[in-house]
Amino acid sequence: MIRINQNYTKLKASYLFSDIAKRVAKYQEENPGADIIRLGIGDVTKPLPDACIRGFQNGVSEMASEDTFRGYGPEQGYAFLREKIAAVDFQEKGADVAPDEIFVSDGAKCDTGNFQELFAQDINIAIPDPVYPVYLDTNVMAGRTGEFIDGRYEGIKYLECKKENNFLPALPDKNESIDLIYLCFPNNPTGTTITKDGLKQWVDYAKENSALILFDAAYEAFVRDSDIPRSIYEIEGAREVAVEFRSFSKTAGFTGTRCGYTVVPKECRVYDENGDETMLHPLWNRRQSTKFNGVSYPVQKAAEAIYSEEGRIQTNALVSYYLKNAELVRMAMTDLGFDLVGGDNSPYIWIDGKGRDSWEFFDLLLTKAGVVCTPGAGFGKCGQGYIRISAFNSRENVEKAMERMGDALK
Ligand SMILES: *Cc1c(COP(=O)(O)O)cnc(C)c1O
Repeated sequence: MIRINQNYTKLKASYLFSDIAKRVAKYQEENPGADIIRLGIGDVTKPLPDACIRGFQNGVSEMASEDTFRGYGPEQGYAFLREKIAAVDFQEKGADVAPDEIFVSDGAKCDTGNFQELFAQDINIAIPDPVYPVYLDTNVMAGRTGEFIDGRYEGIKYLECKKENNFLPALPDKNESIDLIYLCFPNNPTGTTITKDGLKQWVDYAKENSALILFDAAYEAFVRDSDIPRSIYEIEGAREVAVEFRSFSKTAGFTGTRCGYTVVPKECRVYDENGDETMLHPLWNRRQSTKFNGVSYPVQKAAEAIYSEEGRIQTNALVSYYLKNAELVRMAMTDLGFDLVGGDNSPYIWIDGKGRDSWEFFDLLLTKAGVVCTPGAGFGKCGQGYIRISAFNSRENVEKAMERMGDALK
């Protein structure tokens, strides 16, 4: 009898985006002429930068000729890309990362989801609430949680991010003996950032407790304030206790092209069943070599172009464009008297609904303003009462949306 992985039955089906789609479809059916502006799902709207398109096209052309055709590439990514990533994203910014510590992948979702398989079944895991659902669900699938009861999985330490703590997770107590910590800054969904001192506390915690941090920096390109860390490796000691995930999705428009990377420093230590120290780098290398065959050559050429002079100018302009949208949302909602965070060094704005339930606020914006947001409750218990607005849309649409929301919420 072919039996299933029973852990899948524990997954609370995430109806978030299908629920949103259903409500929007229903509204559209009842209001056929309605012009709906989508500021919900975190997908970019602008095309790839010219430099990337050219890199991409050159890569494709090389595949057409026998002398330049490429078959299987290195599972870890081509050296031309890993070297540029190490130099530009880290060394230039004072963070010590070498090319052979970089694993190029088809995106940060896969890597943040796959990484947990390197660890023992009975480790203690801390995950923020609200959260990007991948960290949680992949640990549920792997059988590291109990049942879903009253909005939460048993066996997970939820790091609550609320107004009272400025949406920054508090360190767990020593006696909770947390082994694996997921952090994401700039944060999805709240748009908050962390200071170097704040992040240092987590690095110190991981060192003292023999724990590991999985740091999701998918939005690092949106950091514009120089005192906010863009990489966890700007923090002393992080190389021993942290893995960092990066993605070209939000920073260079690669959501549909698929490329990102993971940094596993060679000093990063973990422990075997006897409590003896061992290294994480060879484990991830083994995992990738066994289960992954690398990213398509033309896609890596497109990603390499991000690091060219024009590529850097163009991706920077792309991020600035979305940041300006975020600022418009932040100002408009603040003027309307809403309490919010994010939208500053981040494309997301996390808005307190003034006592409204998340879905009630969602419905109000949909029916009164024709604007689609994301209800905060979809990201975890602590998201109840909030909505997330995304800056990924055209300036024109963002301006129109803010005008309509102003009329609807006055
Ligand atoms: C969008 C996003 C990712 C990146 O996903 P890709 O698979 O690289 O497209 C990773 N983490 C967070 C928090 C995100 O919002």
